[in-house]
Amino acid sequence: MKSKHEFTCINCPLSCSLVLSEEDGEVLEVSGADCKVGEKYAVEEFKDPRRTLSTTVKVKGGALPLLPVVSASPIPKRLVRDAVRALAEVVLEAPVADGQVIYEDIMGTGVNVVASRTLGCEHDG
Ligand code: SF4
Repeated sequence: MKSKHEFTCINCPLSCSLVLSEEDGEVLEVSGADCKVGEKYAVEEFKDPRRTLSTTVKVKGGALPLLPVVSASPIPKRLVRDAVRALAEVVLEAPVADGQVIYEDIMGTGVNVVASRTLGCEHDG
């Protein structure tokens, strides 16, 4: 069965409105993109939508109680909610270095979650 799916390209400020036509899961055409980046984006959003995960985890003895963390690369969108739940269970010990791996292979994606800043101990400087 043929159907159409609409997306808004988020790769530049033009925000092109994209329409992907497909038949039984096979992409037939992408229209509305002003460049190839948008065409690729629509196909990815249809076949395997991914998002960069960004959240915080708890830290014991840190200068701040929470540490911002980010996935080293985008993970499947359908796994983001469960990944955030898994990270909510993590409690780190300060200090933490920028880029330090906080959680390996989140949800079996092969992607590590890393610290997005350095966090010292509560009694430091
Ligand atoms: S399709 Fe190309 S020009 Fe249009 S928003 Fe995406 S990146 Fe920008």
